[in-house]
Amino acid sequence: MSRKEKILEILREKKEVTVKELSNIFKVSEMTIYRDIKELEKEGEIKRKHGSVLLNTKENRETLTVDTCPICEKPITRSHPYKIIVENTKVIEACCEHCGLLLHQKYADKEVSAITYDFITENPISALNAFFVVGSSAVPCCSPSVIPFASREDAEKFQKGFGGKVMTFVEAYNEITNKMNINIKSCCAPQQNVTFKLDDLK
Ligand SMILES: [Zn+2]
Ligand SMILES: [Zn+2]
Repeated sequence: MSRKEKILEILREKKEVTVKELSNIFKVSEMTIYRDIKELEKEGEIKRKHGSVLLNTKENRETLTVDTCPICEKPITRSHPYKIIVENTKVIEACCEHCGLLLHQKYADKEVSAITYDFITENPISALNAFFVVGSSAVPCCSPSVIPFASREDAEKFQKGFGGKVMTFVEAYNEITNKMNINIKSCCAPQQNVTFKLDDLK
């Protein structure tokens, strides 16, 4: 039986299992488990939720909350979406880091902070300190995808497997906003005449 089949068997028994648990069970890295999960997700067998995986059944799908992304209007299905906190009060969520970066344009003149979640561990990290793999072959949501990591090391590891470029917040922001301004066919509408002041981000 392949590891993927075994993962499905575990899910039929346990209903929900974390990436960490799977990596302990199979004695392989979380990155390896992630590859299996990515394939199983593509095949429509499973769903990811709160750092764990579930079988893709109707019942499990209904437990996922549905809000829409202010940039592309896709339903926000991730349990830990990208969050921008405006002036320490208002929290705005985006479907993914791609839209999250675009969303910063709207609040470029406001005091904001932003929270993203490490792609593998799903631990929260400040977006400004995160490293992003931009334009890899892993496209969990909007394209070009922007995938966050707590460390440059992990981002580089991911980049080795899935391609793309490792960038800081500002580099990723510039990359996505420039790209989106000229690439009208992408998921999000282009926005013009926007300046971005890093000093405003605290
Ligand atoms: Zn979006
Ligand atoms: Zn998205």
